[in-house]
Amino acid sequence: MPFGSRNGEEMKEPVKIKERPAVERSATFDEVVFGYSEEEALQEASRCLQCKKPSCNDGCPVGIDVKRFIAHLAKKDYQASYLTIKEKSSFPSICGRVCPAEYQCRKACVFTKKGSPFASERAINIHFLERFVGDFGNQEGIETPAENNKEFIEKRVAVVGSGPAGLCCAGELARQGIDVTVFEGLHKTGGVLRYGIPPFRLPRNILDFEIDYLKKYNVKIVTNYIIGKTKLLDELFREGFSAIFLGLGAGIPSFLNIDGENLCNVYSANEFLTRVNLMAAFRFPEYHTPINVGKHIIIVGGGNTAMDAARVAIRLQRIHGIEPSTTVFYRRTELEMPARRLEIEHAKEEGVKFEFLVQPVAFSGDKDGSLQTLRCLRCELGEPDASGRRRPVSIKGSEFDTPCDSAIIALGLQANTMLTNTTKDLKLDKNKDIIVDPETMQTSIKGVYAGGDIVGGEGTVIEAMGMAKRAARAIAQYLKDKS
Ligand code: FAD
Repeated sequence: MPFGSRNGEEMKEPVKIKERPAVERSATFDEVVFGYSEEEALQEASRCLQCKKPSCNDGCPVGIDVKRFIAHLAKKDYQASYLTIKEKSSFPSICGRVCPAEYQCRKACVFTKKGSPFASERAINIHFLERFVGDFGNQEGIETPAENNKEFIEKRVAVVGSGPAGLCCAGELARQGIDVTVFEGLHKTGGVLRYGIPPFRLPRNILDFEIDYLKKYNVKIVTNYIIGKTKLLDELFREGFSAIFLGLGAGIPSFLNIDGENLCNVYSANEFLTRVNLMAAFRFPEYHTPINVGKHIIIVGGGNTAMDAARVAIRLQRIHGIEPSTTVFYRRTELEMPARRLEIEHAKEEGVKFEFLVQPVAFSGDKDGSLQTLRCLRCELGEPDASGRRRPVSIKGSEFDTPCDSAIIALGLQANTMLTNTTKDLKLDKNKDIIVDPETMQTSIKGVYAGGDIVGGEGTVIEAMGMAKRAARAIAQYLKDKS
């Protein structure tokens, strides 16, 4: 079937990705989205026009040569395609699964109309092709060459945080022969990739493989080690590290600040997802994770984290044999929800319910302090606020109570100040994020660089990696200048 025409040529239809059916997947944590088969990947790659001046490359925050990797793929030269991606990204299989491509490379594809807020349906499915190539390269064990750069012998860099920013920076530096040690506060590496994103969106074998790959470049990883507490930043310099990269993320949740929010079984989405992901709640009954899987679970918020929390919650109810009742409460309408459309659709297919135009005002509990009820006000939309979205205005006298024995608050994340509070001379903005030079990612302290969510707040995996790459380039230059 042709898909419209361009310059008189018939365009082929995009190749749809297959998904695990909702009835099958919603009681398991198995991956929802299947990858392309070889045939499907080749068919999709053949839609790429190989533009003379490709704009898609600029849509990728780490600058993957999209045109070239697709050209190799279309010629079935999967190795060359994989190596092309790896020139710029250490994590093709991760990014091919979690990147919001509709706002990034696909939005820049020539098939998307200029100025569109997100990608057209016709845009090449670059992320699915990246996932296909990444999985192929990982399965085949294709090695990427490391540079053996004598300039850097005996130069040591410390990286704080093992999220995508920290790991990407570590990989970039280690590939050049620099001795890198990553310090991670938790007992596991990966940051949000591991403790936030659920395995049905990012299987853990994929994550483990791409993180382990860094060890080939001799990146050393020390877990259970909080810089700013176990050791101060100054001490790292005294111990001989020549430069430091801070990839601390944004780990502190925001709350509603309403009555009853400290009752048992009211969780932040961060705590809920961390417990589920790091304490294997998805392997019940083999694992008994300290989390209350209630009969009525309410998620407050309308972003991607709320969708992850809701989809996890409804799965846990099914795994625990509880009749599913998971509802997302959001104070605006579906139209204003910041979550990706795909995530909202997936949540609905899996049985998650939505209550729009509702504002929680108080939680109440039983005599033992456990959550029982949520009180809300109904809202209507008023004038647009600073974000451009219409402001929710609560309606007087519209209070209603709803049963709720677990609540998950998903209202966004802010900077964790443990390190920044104990580091003199580190300049922060009003949100307590670290201020950097946007070109070099250098902070107000010489030799200290930062990137990812700790700079400018919650972003995306690939944006964090983009900043980390800029920092790695500047760190390498700094080390050269120093020697
Ligand atoms: P993080 O991933 O937060 O990693 C920071 C790491 O630093 C953590 O491991 C932390 O323990 C460690 N750390 C912090 N302070 C210290 C210290 N003092 N000492 C030692 N270690 C420390 N983005 C997407 O692109 N696609 C998605 O699908 C997506 N889904 C998301 C789902 C959820 C639930 C959340 C919360 C976010 C999601 N994001 C997604 C956003 C994305 O995950 C973040 O933008 C990205 O992880 C930021 O990377 P980072 O390395 O800056 O921080």
